[in-house]
Formats: sequence, structure tokens, C-alpha cells
Amino acid sequence: MKLNSLRDLYVTELKDLYNGEQLILKALPKMMENASSSDLRNAFQEHLGQTRQQVERLEKIFQQLDESPKGQKCKGLEGIIDEWEDIMDKDAPPAVRDAALISSAQRVEHYEIAGYGTVRTYARRLGFEDQAQLLNETLQEEGATDRKLTDLAESYINEEAKTAR
Ligand code: FE
Ligand code: FE
Repeated sequence: MKLNSLRDLYVTELKDLYNGEQLILKALPKMMENASSSDLRNAFQEHLGQTRQQVERLEKIFQQLDESPKGQKCKGLEGIIDEWEDIMDKDAPPAVRDAALISSAQRVEHYEIAGYGTVRTYARRLGFEDQAQLLNETLQEEGATDRKLTDLAESYINEEAKTAR
């Protein structure tokens, strides 16, 4: 696809986010399996539900734009998830694994926050107010998830990882 305009770039970045959400839908159940803290598992579970809604929001936007959601591979998230899988292959006490899970999940969230912030801003500039609103809802969810992960790490998971052996 040629990038002749901000609209083209908008659609391309939406496709990237769409593919990224698919990768996350696959990764989150595996992250839940690897988590020992029930708070962390619950956080992943909750975000899995949100991610399904985020996919639906994107599908609604593609419909409005009369564009296909397919056609873009999110190599960024693929790489972040690859790195996470490498870490999970190593032997580690449960609390250390939990800390590593949070570290990877926050990388995912930050990537998404950057992506959704950008497309929301493009949507506004392009006059797609409804779409900007939908993208902003997702952006807020990604931000809240990131903050929740920070809270879990700082409240006890990092401390448990520190004393784990
Ligand atoms: Fe997401
Ligand atoms: Fe997310």
C-alpha cells in the first residue's frame, strides 16, 4: 500500500495495531498460565476481555473507513513477545517469573500506548471524531493496565522476587 496521505498512514497504523491485538490475544492466555500471583493472573484476565473489545472497536473503524483490517504485520509486538518467550524458557522462581511477566507486559502496553495515541491524534486531524473517541477509549484502557502492572510490581512482586531463591 502506498502512503500518499495522512489517511493512508492512519489506515496502515490501524492495521498494525489490529495485527498487534491478535498477537496479544494469543499471548495473554500463555501469560496467565505462567503467572503465580493471582492478582497478576486476574489483571491479565481482565485485559484479555478488554483486548477483545479493542479488536471490536478497530473492526468498527475499518468498517467506517471501508478498509480491510488485514495486510500489516506488527513486527514490533512480535519481537516483544519473542523476547518474553525467551525469558520464560529460563528457569526462575515464581516471583521472578512474575516480575519478568510484568516487565514484558509493560513493554507491550507502552508500544500500544504510543500507537493508539498516534492514531487517535490522526483521527482528530482527519475529522473522524467518532473514531478518535473509540481509539481514546482503548488508549485509556492500555494506560490503566500499565498503571495496574506498576502497582503490582511495586506493592509486592518485586520485593518477593528480590528475596526469592
Ligand atoms: Fe490492546
Ligand atoms: Fe494492551
